[in-house]
Amino acid sequence: MKRVYTIGEILIDFVSDEINTHLKNVGTFRKTPGGAPANVAATVAKLGGESILITKIGIDPFGDYLLETLQNAGVNIDYIQKTNLANTGIVFVSLKDNGEREFFFYNRIRADLLLDKDEIDPSWFKKGDILHFCSVDLVDAPVRYAHLKAIESIKQAKGFVSFDPNVRLQLWNNKKEYKETILMFLKYADILKISEDEVEFITNIKDIQRAAQWILTTFDNLKILIITRGQNGCLAYFNSKQIEVEGYKVKAIDTTGAGDSFIGAFLYMLSKEELNITEMTESQIREYLKFSNAVAALTTMKKGAISALPSLENVNRFISFGVYE
Ligand code: ATP
Repeated sequence: MKRVYTIGEILIDFVSDEINTHLKNVGTFRKTPGGAPANVAATVAKLGGESILITKIGIDPFGDYLLETLQNAGVNIDYIQKTNLANTGIVFVSLKDNGEREFFFYNRIRADLLLDKDEIDPSWFKKGDILHFCSVDLVDAPVRYAHLKAIESIKQAKGFVSFDPNVRLQLWNNKKEYKETILMFLKYADILKISEDEVEFITNIKDIQRAAQWILTTFDNLKILIITRGQNGCLAYFNSKQIEVEGYKVKAIDTTGAGDSFIGAFLYMLSKEELNITEMTESQIREYLKFSNAVAALTTMKKGAISALPSLENVNRFISFGVYE
């Protein structure tokens, strides 16, 4: 089994208990573990894969809570650094009744931003391993350079790079710079997972097919492009073929982390294979996408991201018999 490394933020999400209330007016928040790279690592581990999170937390109760949560999910926490120069990241989140979310990143300097390139050891990565990252920690801070070192190291080891921009516009004052940063990092990716809503921001093209073609011709480094489409499933481009996979009809109550569990499930499937992605067939990829849709659909049926993750047994039962827990 290959290893799946994820790098970037791990945070506490304080999620509003009151739907459709502006953050200013929320009275009660519920503490939940968050951060897309952490959610992806937890998905891989929960399904039975080997995942490692590379990040930094503060020496504080929230950092301890996150470590414990990851450990319980089966994530390898040995590569997580600690600092007393900043606190563990905190984000306040309010949910609108249409499922959209409002985010407020509380600390200006978070521990995860201080992960330094010297804390990345190239010898960690082995042939075939996968490194996954997102865009929240691509801001101009030490952690951006830690990402570049990890990317360069895994490429030298003949591993693969997966990128999910997970756009958070609130974090960047300068949208043009944000977009340019995402495009800059896109050239390192072998796998790009992006949601339908984000495609236009990256490409300036409304039509999804045309936007996908633009991405594929501009970034010929991509081995696969996956566009997730909420309840409608996903669309992928692989070996010059378009693969469309329908979503599952479920009673979704919280879509937080759906995209993270989707890509976590996909990377888990890849990590189990002896072959690497370039050697796979269209039907294998279709099967992986179907599996990823199932994992993500199940995740939407419970509140939270990590706490909502299904076990492999539950996913298989769901795919085979349509039974959920
Ligand atoms: P998020 O940012 O909320 O984590 P995302 O915007 O990155 O998610 P989406 O396209 O919304 O990504 O969802 C990812 C995947 O989750 C979809 O491809 C689908 O498989 C599953 N999914 C999301 N919403 C639903 C839903 N309402 N019903 C069934 N499956 C869903």
